[in-house]
Amino acid sequence: MLKYSIISFLFLIIFTLPVNGQSPAEKILRKRGEVYLIFPRPSREKINRLSRKISIDAVKEDSVVACVNKKEYEVFLKEKIPFRIYFYPRPKKTDKTKSLADLESWTAYPTYEQYDSIMQKFATDHPGICKIDTIGSTYQGRLLLAVKISDHVDREEEEPAFFYTSTMHGDETGGYILMLHLIDYLLSNYASDDTVRMLVDSLEIWINPLANPDGTYYGGNNSVDGARRYNAQNIDLNRNFPNPEDGPHPDGNDYAVETIAMMQFLHSRNFILSANFHAGEEVVNYPWDTWTSSERTHADDAWFQCVSREYADTVHAHSPAGYMTYADNGVTNGGDWYVITGSRQDYVTWYLHGREITVELDHSKITPEDELNSLWKYNYHSLLNYMQEAIWGISGDVTDSVTGKPVRARIEIPGHDRDSSWVWSDSLSGYYHRLILEGTYDLQVSAPGYRTKNLSGVVVTNHRLTRLDVTLAPVSVSITPPSKSGIYLFPNPVHTGSSLTLRWGTEEKATISFTGPDGRKRKEITVQLREGENPIPLPLSISGICFVTIRGTHSPAVTEKLVILP
Ligand SMILES: [Zn+2]
Repeated sequence: MLKYSIISFLFLIIFTLPVNGQSPAEKILRKRGEVYLIFPRPSREKINRLSRKISIDAVKEDSVVACVNKKEYEVFLKEKIPFRIYFYPRPKKTDKTKSLADLESWTAYPTYEQYDSIMQKFATDHPGICKIDTIGSTYQGRLLLAVKISDHVDREEEEPAFFYTSTMHGDETGGYILMLHLIDYLLSNYASDDTVRMLVDSLEIWINPLANPDGTYYGGNNSVDGARRYNAQNIDLNRNFPNPEDGPHPDGNDYAVETIAMMQFLHSRNFILSANFHAGEEVVNYPWDTWTSSERTHADDAWFQCVSREYADTVHAHSPAGYMTYADNGVTNGGDWYVITGSRQDYVTWYLHGREITVELDHSKITPEDELNSLWKYNYHSLLNYMQEAIWGISGDVTDSVTGKPVRARIEIPGHDRDSSWVWSDSLSGYYHRLILEGTYDLQVSAPGYRTKNLSGVVVTNHRLTRLDVTLAPVSVSITPPSKSGIYLFPNPVHTGSSLTLRWGTEEKATISFTGPDGRKRKEITVQLREGENPIPLPLSISGICFVTIRGTHSPAVTEKLVILP
């Protein structure tokens, strides 16, 4: 996985001098909608400033590689930075005549149709522990597929939900096959391997091998040879998520079709741990991407460093010297590498109170087929270990002390948590799960309409689970202060026909929209909100899960999942 980095510099002697009025970069843009550029490495400040305008892909010792679409290219030209076109080396064309049986050694790329069949086959071959689900459709109508792997797979169980997703950059393909191989490994070894059985029995595992199929199959459904980074709308999906600093649309684009589908999927599941896979470098990257570590760290920075270190160290134990050694021997804080806004990792970790890392698997963008098996051997122990992390920490149920019903509550560690590092219990089950390093902690559990509970001296041991159920006593008057940074819809779940209350931090006009899990807006109303509690008419036509988005005239839009019971 190293050999291409040297060869790649041979490609640099192609200059972007205009030819017949059109530069080579423009020619590539016209043909492929995107082009990679390389330019001398400027100061860190300048890299981070450029990163807001173009898609910085890799920061190397003395150069920077970036991807641009047409609009970004024009913006980049105004910077007057000398550059050259950069071609990531592409492996020789893949053999297009593989049978499904051949593909099951996970050493070749399937066609898009074969990918679909492989995913279906996982579920039909292992119906007891695997089912297939669709996250949504892409801009061009391909499917964003995921499998759920768990014991009692058809039931919603009280288990930590875990998520792996790969290849949101369509040309970073190694992780795509790695995920298929992992699914196969979990399903095939469930009966015989203790670790696999423990993972499948303890977790609700979701795996989405291909998050940008339009990009991966940009050259046609038969091959990944024409794969490109962006989606079919020329959007970099890993710059397109809401951002803690900039809010919605940090890249200036509308949300891509794939981004909306992924946000809705993530909202509808309470994933407590996740990772997404990329290529172009070999390093484990942890939050924040938005800030350097000297500007801001996550409250659980030490935990993030620990799980990232474990991933890389385990890789090193199973790979030849030199693999995954970028930055601090294979680990970097996101912003310390280079700052980006709109990344999935920061969206999940900030907005959804999850914990997500980004794993860069290979220097090559398209891992050659004859290296796919090595990629698996180097990484699969780490993949299993990382999943296991989701089992540890503190977990339990939050329930109403009078009715015994589940309560959606905020579980916070005062003096430790900051920004958005606390977690929430699930509104339907009351289940919560907090990942944290070994130590003794004081927990505070609060919910609108309930007396806040403080629990001191909760002991957490590494690689052990601390079980802690919490009952909350209802009070007639809520003691949670109105807050601008948090919205509170209650009761949640709510019964159709009953009244809903919104707690809001300021007086302003707002639109409230109700969107179904399919992304269709069901109802939108305009209301005048006052500070404190506001009765909200609940549309009679809606039931089940919906997403309520409140857009105040002076406040950033906020969305909360609401469950409407019949
Ligand atoms: Zn990437």
